[in-house]
Amino acid sequence: MDTENLLIVGAGFSLNAGLPLASAFTSSLLNLSRLKIDGPSNALVRFVEGFVAKTFAEGRSAAPRDWPELEDLFTLVDLSANTGHHLGEYSASDLRLVRRAMIVRMIRMLSQAYYSRERNADGNWQLLEELLCGFDTERTAILSMNWDTVIESGLARAQDIHNVEYGCEAIRADFDGAGGLRQRRGQGTRTVHLTKPHGSVNWLYCDSCRKVYWVPPSSATKVADTLFRRQDWDAVKRITRLTQSHTIRNPACPHCSVKSLGTRFATFSYRKALDFPMHSASWRTAENHLRGSVNWVFFGYSMPNADFEFKYLLKRVQLAEPIRPRITVVTGGDGADDTELRFTRFFGDVAGERRFFKQGLTNEVLEHLRSIGVMRDL
Ligand SMILES: [Zn+2]
Repeated sequence: MDTENLLIVGAGFSLNAGLPLASAFTSSLLNLSRLKIDGPSNALVRFVEGFVAKTFAEGRSAAPRDWPELEDLFTLVDLSANTGHHLGEYSASDLRLVRRAMIVRMIRMLSQAYYSRERNADGNWQLLEELLCGFDTERTAILSMNWDTVIESGLARAQDIHNVEYGCEAIRADFDGAGGLRQRRGQGTRTVHLTKPHGSVNWLYCDSCRKVYWVPPSSATKVADTLFRRQDWDAVKRITRLTQSHTIRNPACPHCSVKSLGTRFATFSYRKALDFPMHSASWRTAENHLRGSVNWVFFGYSMPNADFEFKYLLKRVQLAEPIRPRITVVTGGDGADDTELRFTRFFGDVAGERRFFKQGLTNEVLEHLRSIGVMRDL
């Protein structure tokens, strides 16, 4: 399918749905105020806190504001675990457990934040809902650098669109009542083209046959249950001495029947795990969407340094297109002027072909999105 626009979203887009920005991720991960004290997230957080205290804070307990950057944490864990080395007293397999615990906690946190905002919708939520109601899936594809399912959930609710073409040959599936995973047929005819080069919280990857499955966003916490195995909980229990209630799911792959479903996230890391088959397929699809688009609309994406491979892709495609893409940037917050400067310096300041909106999502933004066909004209 040929679309004429590409909407490229980062954490600033999902902020409208109540999800934290990268800068607030740590305190959200550690925010336990609303959790049952014996809940599974409690034990995961205690376990990761212990790792940070020992590895980064010389044994003193670190408050959220004293935590290292998540990029530093994940990069060091990845560099050590992937080469089979210890980091201090944590072995490579302990480090992989830390990484899985962080990811499982993130999936739960993103899901809790989303449903909590849905119950207490504010003005930003309403504007986002308006965008999703009018979003034109025929004319615009989406590239999300986020793992959350704000777009999938939103389009299902606002437009009854339940089919997602992730551009990485991901197969639609869902959990059945008996704890298994079943392949599911599509629903209706309308589909959104959504590429997620960093992975998604509703994906499962089979380490045996290498197929990727995606489940409805509401099943994301079941994905989290699948990622943390019985031996993982045993290790957390041994280290934290906390006995926690938790659900374990270990479904077989619908294709090869091996119980080896896991995930591959490109986490906050300078060494992103991008060399898996599904990620390379996503990157190829992203490149095709970039090539074919008249408008590149960046929404809540500030081009962080850790995304240098994506920035290379953007620059490569921009320079190879005889008719250069027109660029819209929707940003906000204290860093809005810096973001404008970064985009201008990166893509060039071309009169009439750049639009900057620096107040986040506003009616003016929606009007612009209608004028370029990202949203249907009412
Ligand atoms: Zn398989």
